Amino acid sequence: MKYEDAIKKYDPVIGIEVHVELGTETKMFDAAPNSFGGGPNSNITPTSLGLPGSLPVVNEKAVEYAIKIGLALGCDIAESCRFARKNYFYPDVPKDFQTSQSDEPIAADGEVEVELEDGTTVTIPVERAHMEEDAGKNTHVGGATGRIHGAVHSLVDYNRAGVPLVEIVTHPITGTGERAAEVAAAYVRTLRDIFRALGVSEARMEQGNVRADVNVSLRESPEAPLGTRTETKNVNSFRSIERAVRFEIARQASVLESGRKVVQETRHWHEDTGETTSGRVKSDADDYRYFPEPDLVPLVPSREWIEELRASLPELPAQKRRRLHAEWGFSDLEMRDVVNAGLLDAIEDTVGEGATPAAARKWWTGEVARMAKQREVHPTELVTPAQVAALAQLIADGKLNDKLAKEVLAGVAAGEGEPAEVMSARGLEIVEDTGALEAAVAEAIAANPDVVEKIRGGKMQAVGALMGPIMKATRGQADAGKARELILAQING
Ligand code: ADP
Ligand code: MG
Repeated sequence: MKYEDAIKKYDPVIGIEVHVELGTETKMFDAAPNSFGGGPNSNITPTSLGLPGSLPVVNEKAVEYAIKIGLALGCDIAESCRFARKNYFYPDVPKDFQTSQSDEPIAADGEVEVELEDGTTVTIPVERAHMEEDAGKNTHVGGATGRIHGAVHSLVDYNRAGVPLVEIVTHPITGTGERAAEVAAAYVRTLRDIFRALGVSEARMEQGNVRADVNVSLRESPEAPLGTRTETKNVNSFRSIERAVRFEIARQASVLESGRKVVQETRHWHEDTGETTSGRVKSDADDYRYFPEPDLVPLVPSREWIEELRASLPELPAQKRRRLHAEWGFSDLEMRDVVNAGLLDAIEDTVGEGATPAAARKWWTGEVARMAKQREVHPTELVTPAQVAALAQLIADGKLNDKLAKEVLAGVAAGEGEPAEVMSARGLEIVEDTGALEAAVAEAIAANPDVVEKIRGGKMQAVGALMGPIMKATRGQADAGKARELILAQING
């Protein structure tokens, strides 16, 4: 069944679990460096490996970051919470348990306001944000798919084992209808932006700093009880999240249409085919034999510390958008275009360099964006905010017109130097009351006696007919107002 048809027939409910790796210096429970790359099994200590006799110590910075995330999501911060052992056997978890927080999350009951591309906002209810550690990484060698089936042997790299994570879990998200897939992707993007604004993670999706599991279920109507969900694991780009939700909604609708039942299970996402396939059957009562971690004392963040952290929170992306929208006076549509093009920060910096918001917007979303699209890069890779501000200044000073400014931009983007340098080097500066302009005007007058007659006869719009030859003679560098003045002066004088 197609997504469009599935959505007409069923009410989709989604639930999203996001894991974010915190950018601390060291790991969650030991002093091994928390860094990306490095040779396999180089960033480890006996504690990361869970060797006998090793003991964990909680990383204070990780707790600070977790509290900041909780506060930014409007959560309540627990007065006291404990870590727990989530027991399971898998080679990437060397201790045979993951240290996590099960029923005592550090933060709970929040919400996130998500803005969709067309400006609609959706409030996502957050159930909890809890702390845990990442697992190591298995590499299955010899098979066709990279999965364990068909592999000849497997390698385990424990560099990632013990990296601090915060997992953010939503309540079931209802009422999004046909926009379910879009909402899922926009929510994770919003979280990514919040993590970056807080400075708690580099939050690079492509490096796996942020990973999402998407739960999807269908029900007959918004009044019906929740249907059976599937959980598609590790969907690691915004586009994939949207595609995975769409696929699952369509697939589950087909299952229901044929009279079968959706199986509660984890599913794998396949980027190449755009499909999910069955993983393992998962009940809500999976027995991880959770129990409080006996090697760690409860975490009791003082109220003073929490208030200190609350006061230190930076302006969050949504607040910043609202503030700049008001300050800049852009229309809703203009603001949306700026945000969707990822140019908010560039324009903010350009205004910071002295340009007017209107000029900054005009150049970034206009010519720079056009050049960037052609070259398939982001506009900020072509020119800097300081350069756009300098360009705007040259225009404001009457040294460039829009047409010449575009040529200057092309030169700047080609690495020819700063706008003023490119302008001089390429000889693009507007020709003002110099001899060159006077000569061009005289030439145009001499070559077009009929036009001159009309102007003498009072037909002022005929002046326009002389502009073409003048602009041609000055290679577009004539200041139009100045040229008009000179035409009238020469004809009447
Ligand atoms: P698990 O241990 O299975 O990962 P979690 O509680 O961590 O369970 O996450 C389950 C996610 O699925 C939550 O975001 C929750 O809101 C969501 N969810 C629960 N029931 C449904 C449902 N029927 N349809 C869609 N999402 C659901
Ligand atoms: Mg979970």
